[in-house]
Amino acid sequence: MTLTGTHINYYYHCHHHLWLFAHSINMEQNSDAVTMGKFISESTYKKEDHEIQISTDGGEIVLDFYDEKTKTIHEVKKSDKMEELHLWQVKHYISVLEEKGITGVTGEIDYPKLREKVKVELSDSDRERLNQIKADVERIVALSLPPEVINKPFCKNCSYYDLCYV
Ligand code: SF4
Repeated sequence: MTLTGTHINYYYHCHHHLWLFAHSINMEQNSDAVTMGKFISESTYKKEDHEIQISTDGGEIVLDFYDEKTKTIHEVKKSDKMEELHLWQVKHYISVLEEKGITGVTGEIDYPKLREKVKVELSDSDRERLNQIKADVERIVALSLPPEVINKPFCKNCSYYDLCYV
């Protein structure tokens, strides 16, 4: 299977969610993307000229803001609560661009509210880690039943809440 940004989101957010998504179980009026946006990230660069779309075997990924001159992917996030997820999202995007032959790309995650910027690069060990994440995603998706629910505060905002708890 092709690892997508959505897989990475759900992998860091909730393995139960990942399994339900991968098995095409859809509860919502809201799309998964909308739901994830509610509690993971919100870009302020959407729909600008710098947005680019990249087709991959696993679907299309959209980079909200890509600076071609400096070869930098910019992501703007509300908070650093899920910084690890944000990092791996951007590292994944860098690796997708590499696969397309665009090398030397870096990333920058901006947290305007915190007045912080985090530089992101893709190292050899990151490439290995992305392969491990992919293998782990495949293992979770192949389970005959979903992993345990996670009972986190953000569950109540999740589109699968009723399915998980009611
Ligand atoms: S409600 Fe909680 S446990 Fe269920 S899929 Fe959503 S985040 Fe995961």
